[in-house]
Amino acid sequence: MKLAMIGFGQAGGKIVDKFIEYDERTGSGIVRSAIAVNTAKADLMGLEHVPEDNRVLIGQARVKGHGVGADNELGAEIAEEDIDEVQGAIDNIPVHEIDAFLVVAGLGGGTGSGGSPVLAKHLKRIYTEPVYGLGILPGSDEGGIYTLNAARSFQTFVREVDNLLVFDNDAWRKTGESVEGGYEQINDEIVRRFGVLFGAGEIDAGDNVAESVVDSSEIINTLSGGGVSTVGYDAESVETSSSGGLLSRFKGDDDNIESANTTNRITSLVRKAALGRLTLPCEIEGAERALLVVSGPPKHLNRKGIERGRKWLEEQTGSMEVRGGDYPINEPNVAAAVLLSGVHNVPRIKELQQIAIEAQENIDEIQEESEENLETLVEDDEDELDPLF
Ligand code: GDP
Repeated sequence: MKLAMIGFGQAGGKIVDKFIEYDERTGSGIVRSAIAVNTAKADLMGLEHVPEDNRVLIGQARVKGHGVGADNELGAEIAEEDIDEVQGAIDNIPVHEIDAFLVVAGLGGGTGSGGSPVLAKHLKRIYTEPVYGLGILPGSDEGGIYTLNAARSFQTFVREVDNLLVFDNDAWRKTGESVEGGYEQINDEIVRRFGVLFGAGEIDAGDNVAESVVDSSEIINTLSGGGVSTVGYDAESVETSSSGGLLSRFKGDDDNIESANTTNRITSLVRKAALGRLTLPCEIEGAERALLVVSGPPKHLNRKGIERGRKWLEEQTGSMEVRGGDYPINEPNVAAAVLLSGVHNVPRIKELQQIAIEAQENIDEIQEESEENLETLVEDDEDELDPLF
């Protein structure tokens, strides 16, 4: 499907930048337009692929291009005040050519955390196209304020978008490695997973002998109904060249074995994708809707495998709304991407909220104490001194 991507804040901008790179490399055609919005000039300048005209610096009067720190309330305020500047860039998007908007942001910081829900609300008021969010949760080692920001932004963002796709940095941190050190790899993972998913709806059925191609409307229907989504993914490398040689004499048998192998490979990939690490780890049972996309060289795709994988997902989720299809691409691997939409049983979100509440209480306490402590310091004990004015 064709998307207008808007990266808000540093993480948002970097991920949209990566999506453009992915798009150019694979020819997936998912990024119809890309915009980056930030309060920090240096972050916008660091981008490589977002066209310069589409980089919007907001809040210049308030923060002079230096960013908002991790103050997401200020991020939200600035987004509201300068929404016309953002709209100015959106005006250049040929909206009739896009299937949806995707607003991307790290929820733990300030600019993207506060600004992305404001932008989503604005887009929904003006356009009829769906507005999706891609929200990145902070790593648990980032500290209380980031967790508090993320918990508040998450709550607001979910309410303002048609669906919030979530990626949890914490689940992707390698042991012993700080999240920052791994952002490059993490961003590759984000782009690969969502790239396969959104790319599936872009294939021209005439290009390849596709058995059952996924259409944009199937992605939209899976995401409609709102809520929170997560994505599972697994891949296995395969030979791309067509095999001939000795065995081709017994082609009948060979074909049957090949077909059984293809089916088995697909079904096991689907299981590994859904039961392995999800972008937002959660219980898959109870997911309201799901979409299975199997990508790979056409000769390694078959309807039977996808159908079995789909049935298995129905059993595991308990949902009757599980769609599935293939995405023929000439890459040396077969991959299964599983979108689980409307997930409810997400322990990570509950944990995030708990830590956020503790951080909030801690901040309030320190603030109260700070006033008292300052007064004790500044005022003389017997109150004999008078201030100047
Ligand atoms: P903002 O510029 O004020 O919106 O804040 P940032 O985008 O710099 O940071 C917000 C959060 O996003 C951080 O707390 C991190 O959890 C996360 N983050 C920052 N940069 C990246 C990145 O390149 N990739 C990923 N996956 N997450 C990032």
